[in-house]
Amino acid sequence: MDVTTKGIVLKATDYNENDKLILLYSLEYGKITVHAKGIRKGSAKLKFAADQFCFGQYELNKTADRYTLKTCDQLESFYSLREDVVVYYAACAVAECLMNCTEEEQSEPEVFVETLKAFAALTDGVDPLTVVLRYLLGFLKMQGSGLQLDRCAVCGSPVAKGFLDLQHGGVVCEGCRSAESVPVSARTLALCKMAETISYDKLKNLHFTQEALKDALGLFNKYISHVFFPFKSIAELLKL
Ligand SMILES: [Zn+2]
Repeated sequence: MDVTTKGIVLKATDYNENDKLILLYSLEYGKITVHAKGIRKGSAKLKFAADQFCFGQYELNKTADRYTLKTCDQLESFYSLREDVVVYYAACAVAECLMNCTEEEQSEPEVFVETLKAFAALTDGVDPLTVVLRYLLGFLKMQGSGLQLDRCAVCGSPVAKGFLDLQHGGVVCEGCRSAESVPVSARTLALCKMAETISYDKLKNLHFTQEALKDALGLFNKYISHVFFPFKSIAELLKL
């Protein structure tokens, strides 16, 4: 059966002599693996369809156990995401989120749209760390695993600064902290709260220091490592 879907390339790996396996985040089918036959041959016309972050309309042949690439109409190459190292790792963090934290063949249109918005913001020159923070906090919220940021996750009292508690999935107050709780400054907490709710078109108006953003991302990485897996790209972003 032939099917058509919009999709974003998360990564592609070499397969057989001339093929690639494309990990595609698709609008209609969620995360799927697509077999692209002959795409590494010098004469292959569809090479671009396996480029990381390529956004296109993909025509696929679907059988019971696999998808095979038939053709692709590129809608946006997002080539510029691969030109600057900070922007690149920020885009990788978005892709890694979809690789690590979504299920195969589970369509989530809202996540798809947010991903395109994040890539567009990175292309438009919005600060990469701000985009990553916005995307990841928003993603967790959509998955129902959002961080509780304004009230203590144990006793419910308002918290302006406090401690991140991984077991309780949020911030806890001085009285409810455990030995493993990690301190969170008022600045980091305020930044996360703002980044969680702001729309992508307003992101460029936010001006946080890189130090504050790195604190927030580092904290977030601890949480997401606990819920899912550690993100390699966030570790790279924090080193840059
Ligand atoms: Zn408390």
